[in-house]
Amino acid sequence: MVAWMVVLDRLPTRSRLISFGLNVESLCLLCNRGEETRGHLFFQCEFSSRLWFVSLSACGFRRSVLIWGLELDWMCCMTRGCSLPALVLRLAWNDCIYMLWRERNERVFGRAKSSVEEVFKRFQEIVRLKLSGRVKQRQLLRHSALCESWDLLV
Ligand SMILES: [Zn+2]
Repeated sequence: MVAWMVVLDRLPTRSRLISFGLNVESLCLLCNRGEETRGHLFFQCEFSSRLWFVSLSACGFRRSVLIWGLELDWMCCMTRGCSLPALVLRLAWNDCIYMLWRERNERVFGRAKSSVEEVFKRFQEIVRLKLSGRVKQRQLLRHSALCESWDLLV
């Protein structure tokens, strides 16, 4: 749901709130550097870029993180079909976006900040739970590195 709102650019980012006339800070809560726009949050921001980089690595991709439009295009290509790698990448994408927005909101309400590693651990667990019982033994064997990255062997 959150990912779909990001695609439509409907999340109430600080830049959108300012465009509606609200008097709020414009700085990104995750890095305190850039203006909080969709493009910054996904994934020009140092925090979100690192989280997506770690997620991509766990999915077996070693590459630089791209800007929002290019990441979205790449995801649309890579997540076609119902193979285990495509399913895991789809879940990683949705949960990474959700967890970034959630972490951002935690900071809005002054709650404790989490590190990239802590946020990744949480959404890794969500992905693992969503996949539990859905992965067949032959998929585990065929994609052992992927399963190990997402702790699916337990
Ligand atoms: Zn930022």
